[in-house]
Amino acid sequence: MRAWSRAERARGKRVGFVPTMGALHEGHLRLIDAARDTCDVVALSLFVNPLQFGPGEDFARYPRDLDRDRTLALARGVDGFFVPTPQEMYPVEPLVRVAPGPMAETLEGAARPGHFAGVLTVVAKLFHAVEPDVARFGRKDFQQGMLVRQMVSDLDFPVQVDIAPTVRELEGLALSSRNAYLSGDQRRAALTLSRCLREVERAWRGGAADPAVVQRRGLEALTVPGVNPEYLALVDDQLRPVERVTQATVALVAARVGTTRLIDNVVLGEGVGADPTVDA
Ligand code: AMP
Repeated sequence: MRAWSRAERARGKRVGFVPTMGALHEGHLRLIDAARDTCDVVALSLFVNPLQFGPGEDFARYPRDLDRDRTLALARGVDGFFVPTPQEMYPVEPLVRVAPGPMAETLEGAARPGHFAGVLTVVAKLFHAVEPDVARFGRKDFQQGMLVRQMVSDLDFPVQVDIAPTVRELEGLALSSRNAYLSGDQRRAALTLSRCLREVERAWRGGAADPAVVQRRGLEALTVPGVNPEYLALVDDQLRPVERVTQATVALVAARVGTTRLIDNVVLGEGVGADPTVDA
């Protein structure tokens, strides 16, 4: 992988990089498009990273379809398709891992202990393998994007990290590989997450600036049969709870639909309605 990337750079090409866990959907594919907009060649990695799954999470059953993913990625113009095996990535269990710091202690980090250490460790390794000029991540995983940026800044990785908006189905559901776990009824129930974010947005646009008030409105929308809310948080770009809700406030939601854990978020000033959609 590194030899390919270095050869491209030696020819004066800018290398873009899109790390994924596969089960590709339009959200991933738009990251490829975005990478191509600012780079000459694009590498996409596909690796279901065992380090970022906790005990009892869905590592073993995470959707895997390499042939389909390869076809989709190549059709979208990926130049370097990188599919390392767990044995190649972790010939021995790594003793040294990236410590993600305080931004990983809340929200997803609180719900999934060790998750972000696993994410940042694999992202660091993938950055060393690909040595990209630009890496593209999705805002769907907002906290992950912030933490990758923090790592790149704190540890001086020579990589530009760009974060693209969340791609949604027409009705609002954020595309996710984990949506494949949902039954028809559960898919309908899963719309509750984006509805909740719209309700938060509506409350703020209606003049509410007290986070407790805005959060209550959102939680009401989240309380429907078949959905088990985990959190609805109103934070700033450092993931600190806000004292006043503004256009820069980010609303993040996590909930379980059946056994499937889903997350979504919106930057209030931009709004769910501004996100790109696909007719899935
Ligand atoms: P994953 O394969 O789920 O680890 O995701 C790989 C990358 O795709 C991450 O940067 C995600 O944030 C991004 N991504 C996942 N879902 C979406 C989506 N619906 N819209 C935009 N980016 C996404």
